[in-house]
Amino acid sequence: MVDLAPEIAIIGAGMAGLTCARALQKRGLNSVIFDKGRGLGGRMATRRADGGFQFDHGAQYLSARDSGFADMLHRAEAAGAVARWPENKEPTAFVGIPGMTGLAKHLSEGLEIRRATRVQRIVPAEGRWQLEWQDGKALFDRVIITVPAPQVAPLLPQTDEFNTALETVEMDPCLTLMMSLPHGFDLPFVTRRTPDEDISWIACDSTKPGRPGETCVVAQASRDWSLRHLDLELDSIAERMLHLVNQIIGTGPNVAPVYMSAHRWRYAFVATPLGQPYLNDRASTLFAGGDWCLGAKAEHAWISGRGIADALAESL
Ligand SMILES: Cc1cc2nc3c(=O)[nH]c(=O)nc-3n(C[C@H](O)[C@H](O)[C@H](O)COP(=O)(O)OP(=O)(O)OC[C@H]3O[C@@H](n4cnc5c(N)ncnc54)[C@H](O)[C@@H]3O)c2cc1C
Repeated sequence: MVDLAPEIAIIGAGMAGLTCARALQKRGLNSVIFDKGRGLGGRMATRRADGGFQFDHGAQYLSARDSGFADMLHRAEAAGAVARWPENKEPTAFVGIPGMTGLAKHLSEGLEIRRATRVQRIVPAEGRWQLEWQDGKALFDRVIITVPAPQVAPLLPQTDEFNTALETVEMDPCLTLMMSLPHGFDLPFVTRRTPDEDISWIACDSTKPGRPGETCVVAQASRDWSLRHLDLELDSIAERMLHLVNQIIGTGPNVAPVYMSAHRWRYAFVATPLGQPYLNDRASTLFAGGDWCLGAKAEHAWISGRGIADALAESL
């Protein structure tokens, strides 16, 4: 029997996990979040590099259809954690300040987060759930998993009731190039979306509000190009993407970027979502959620995280 203050663990400090923890906290329920990364935000990510370079190499901007998500963004705007970009975009789009992780930091205020802790297994023990990580373990009454769908099943016992549902979810990769151009070179556009081309998105990241002055560019490869080149070395991916991007932005082969690197998002975009806001076991002690439940955007992760918090609180 769980008392009125169950011990709750959340795996993942991305949009879903942070949103869930905040919503639980509002209901008087504390939780501890585990994340394998040193930073916060998951795929709402910011990379900083020597020389004053900064790139949002994951989510580019956030837009809202759901009124609750819109309210959250407006509150974050009032707190200075997000600002509008690109200007005049309809519907309104927001970016984190000073990087996309700025929103995650804002959402994490007052939450207990154990960073750099990769949860390896979740096993039933003593009528509760035991979380195991590289150098520790602990028992919890409720566990909420908010990692990308393909990474949920390896955490659970092979027979777990979630597994069949998880197999229906499909996520696509995205190879991403980050580069900074020499002084004097600007992009002929702020953003360029071409879903049918090998390079499907280019953004002049440094035009976002509050960014450092250097011209920083983020380019994403299409799903097909990403699949074809997924397991190449990152340097090789960067070289190949640079060649394609140069042809588009017209800098030519003699203009060497002053900084360049690639990132491999193996599970970037949800191609086939689950179709419901979360998974839960019969006793509502184990939940799994994230964007993969409903769609390919951070907004979907937010809705899922909120849904889990409501369901968990109502089950007590
Ligand atoms: C390149 C790219 C561009 C995108 N562009 C946009 C965009 O413009 N607009 C938009 O709305 N969305 C965009 N998205 C999607 C958006 O980023 C996601 O929908 C959203 O961030 C998902 O949040 P989440 O909490 O569900 O998952 P995640 O952000 O993936 O969070 C999961 C967290 O779990 C952690 N984790 C994983 N395994 C473990 C483990 N074993 N133990 C501990 N921690 C673990 C990870 O470190 C991560 O922090 C983009 C994504 C990518 C990759």
